[in-house]
Amino acid sequence: MMNRRQFLATSTAATAMFARAPGALAATYGLLIKGGRVIDPSVGLDAIRDVAIAGGKIAAVEANIAGEAADTIDASGRIVTPGLIDIHTHAGRSKEGPPLALQDGVTCWVDAGSAGADNIDQIAAVARGAPQLGRALVNIARTGTAPGGELMDIERANVDLARGAVLRHRDIVVGIKARLSNNVAGTNDLEALRRAQEVAAPFNLPVMIHIGQSYSPMRSILPLLKRGDIVTHMYAPAPNAILDDQGRLFPDVAAARRRGVMFDFGNGVNNHFNWEAVEKATKQGFWPDTISTDWNAQSRTTGVVDLPNVLSKFLMFGMSLMQVIACATINAARVFPSFEDRGTLNVGAPADVAIMELRDGSFDFLDNYKGTRTGRQRLFPIATVFAGKRTPPRA
Ligand SMILES: [Zn+2]
Repeated sequence: MMNRRQFLATSTAATAMFARAPGALAATYGLLIKGGRVIDPSVGLDAIRDVAIAGGKIAAVEANIAGEAADTIDASGRIVTPGLIDIHTHAGRSKEGPPLALQDGVTCWVDAGSAGADNIDQIAAVARGAPQLGRALVNIARTGTAPGGELMDIERANVDLARGAVLRHRDIVVGIKARLSNNVAGTNDLEALRRAQEVAAPFNLPVMIHIGQSYSPMRSILPLLKRGDIVTHMYAPAPNAILDDQGRLFPDVAAARRRGVMFDFGNGVNNHFNWEAVEKATKQGFWPDTISTDWNAQSRTTGVVDLPNVLSKFLMFGMSLMQVIACATINAARVFPSFEDRGTLNVGAPADVAIMELRDGSFDFLDNYKGTRTGRQRLFPIATVFAGKRTPPRA
């Protein structure tokens, strides 16, 4: 078996030969992205580079690439990154969602539990018809997210039905979702999570839990998580979140991270984070592994707006551009095996690219409690390339 590096090296050679047509001196590319500030955390690159694409794959990332291209994007003054990966969205709820997300630079998304066994077929259909890579988590509740709380009746967490949903859509389903807040699960939070793990186990899939204001404390919830599972809404306010009454990070939470549990931002709209929790946790060094939006097709008029806007909130808290881009590219790619060749501009990788602008100014950012903080920089989506093709820009 070749490892990833060898595989990329081999496909690099193949791509280079493909790109250099017989007899031609200069290479011919499908697309050239010229003169941008390329930030690729997968290799620690932050430099002015051209990105050449051929056959839907990255062919070269170098300064001043010569050669012909069918299409050229002038990226001078812009940020060029691997296509963004948003691991907590509800983009699968309507077929209008994925094309909008693509305009925001999102080339891979995960619909995180909009649907359960009863309605996953619709989400899977949207994912298959999406203009980028769409995947889904099956909600442990057969109804998916539901008003009044989908887990108030624990019989909705039906293991056999959920396993059937996974089996019907092995190409789309990448994990199981359980929402554990008191207004979703009541006293059923731990049992719902146990059942989610029961569904996931035979398929070796991760479970994503949504925390904050749960009946049970984190010290009871976290032992039910395995390496590779994901905690979303990591900065949800009390009760029963990651900070104790004095604002100190629970030792159980740091211990869970050490054993490979992933912590995801999950911006959302209601009760998922406030600035105080972000500030207290990050001052103790507890930064996100991944930054996601909890986005849906209506999010542009909320505090979410788009993934670049959500990333900008962490620039405001002092993360570097390299770090925030990592949270939406290589770190996110490592969460789900479906994305293992994504989140990088390595030569030979699928040519998914986000082009953004980092503007200086005064920008107001919102938490979920109408709290506003003002940052000095904000990322704006400019253009997206998926599988080597430039996609329609945002209106
Ligand atoms: Zn969500």
